[in-house]
Amino acid sequence: MRTPRTHHTPRTPRAPRRSRFLLPLLLLAPLVLLVFRPVPRKGVAGASDGGGGDLYADDAARERAIRYNRQREWLSLFGTLYGALINALALRTGLSARLRDRAAAVAPARLGPVIPYTLVSSLLSSLATLPLAYYSGWVVERRYDLTNQTRRAWLGETLKGEALGLALGLPLAQGVYAVIRRYPRGWWAILAALAIPFTIVLSILAPVLILPLFNTFEPIRDRALAERIKALAAAQGVTVSDVLQMDMSKQTKKANAFFTGLGGTKRIVLADTLLDEFTQEEVEVVLAHELGHQVGGDIWKLIGLGALTTALTAGAVDRLARPIIARVGARLGLDPARGLGDVAALPLLALLLSAISLALAPLQNAISRNLIEHPADRYALDLTRDPAAFVGAMEKLGRLNLADPQPPAIVKWLLYGHPTLQERVDYGRSWRAEG
Ligand SMILES: [Zn+2]
Repeated sequence: MRTPRTHHTPRTPRAPRRSRFLLPLLLLAPLVLLVFRPVPRKGVAGASDGGGGDLYADDAARERAIRYNRQREWLSLFGTLYGALINALALRTGLSARLRDRAAAVAPARLGPVIPYTLVSSLLSSLATLPLAYYSGWVVERRYDLTNQTRRAWLGETLKGEALGLALGLPLAQGVYAVIRRYPRGWWAILAALAIPFTIVLSILAPVLILPLFNTFEPIRDRALAERIKALAAAQGVTVSDVLQMDMSKQTKKANAFFTGLGGTKRIVLADTLLDEFTQEEVEVVLAHELGHQVGGDIWKLIGLGALTTALTAGAVDRLARPIIARVGARLGLDPARGLGDVAALPLLALLLSAISLALAPLQNAISRNLIEHPADRYALDLTRDPAAFVGAMEKLGRLNLADPQPPAIVKWLLYGHPTLQERVDYGRSWRAEG
């Protein structure tokens, strides 16, 4: 493993040595600078005048929630950088090129090296990131008393998720590379177009094929509540086939509600953890929010946004990867003639992809917060006309999930697809003032 790259080392015009991995790292630099910039510790959460002041019982509870969130955010940053390092090393050491050679040797010529390469590289990178996944996914959750899972159960689900990822990801990788090779110039546009039917099929199948692998779904047990919700929806001209509850308590003490599926698999799902804690009025307002997503056709907005993001991301990867491969590809054991179609260049694509996704995250999150989630909140309030229940539901949700009511702006831009808790509570309060 330790031998430096030995093959494919023609002395072609040399790029300045230092620039090999500089570009991907430079792409990550703005994030690093922004996050490492000192964040005003005090006043982050306490600044609001009476806004969310009653969310947590006391300052200690609030401090604890903020600590939890900062830890998760740092871990997320570290995970991104660590992933980038792994990809950079896979290229720099020639490991990626050797793996491609091996893969090509074992795979039938007609199929090519993509599937065996992707299989082994996914397994290796999962192994390398397992300690981090364990720490952030179980240890931290345990420390803050948020998980209901044993270590063994966590590991079991992680392995199941990994297997599922491979089952979906390997054929997908084969398909993506078929497109890249067939259309070396316009592949990114074709993939973005294909992302639409692909997401639609996945949206239809996920609620019936994938989600039940991890949790049990059943019609909500409180039938009176179910009828109330159906009546609420019917009054808006929306037919809700059923409202399901999910045993989220199997994994966590956190609570959630979401809408999922398309056509016949369209459904609203409530976590049992939420049903246990919320009053009827609060459940109703949460459901009204989800109903707002359905009425607003938000799933189509998300699919469209996904396709647009794919086009932007893949287009940018194409633009950036091409010159890098042309200049230093041969030295890394890549095949410049095949360009992006050489599967050994996958770590380079992954590096660029994660940098570009990071750059796009603020825009994507802003769209989600302002054009998808906030309108659903407004819909919920207009429909229920019960701001007290709305505010109560938000605060309970916040407490259960140990939410940071007012994260630093940089954290909000990079990670928050929903308005912050403080913003939602404030909105609920101001709605009452206007309504
Ligand atoms: Zn929502």
